[in-house]
Amino acid sequence: MIKDPVCGKKLNRGKAFAVVEYEHTQYFLCCPICQAQFEQDPKHFAKPDMGVPIKKKSR
Ligand SMILES: [Zn+2]
Repeated sequence: MIKDPVCGKKLNRGKAFAVVEYEHTQYFLCCPICQAQFEQDPKHFAKPDMGVPIKKKSR
């Protein structure tokens, strides 16, 4: 389980409305409103413990 950083709701990764990448971390948003808020001010909402670090692997 991960958390929507905007509203704090617990989300299932597969059921998130949107996934936004910010500073090598993925944040999962539950709805278009949370997504818009996050994108307006990612610095304010992005907390590493609420996101999932993006692992860089060679493709
Ligand atoms: Zn939300």
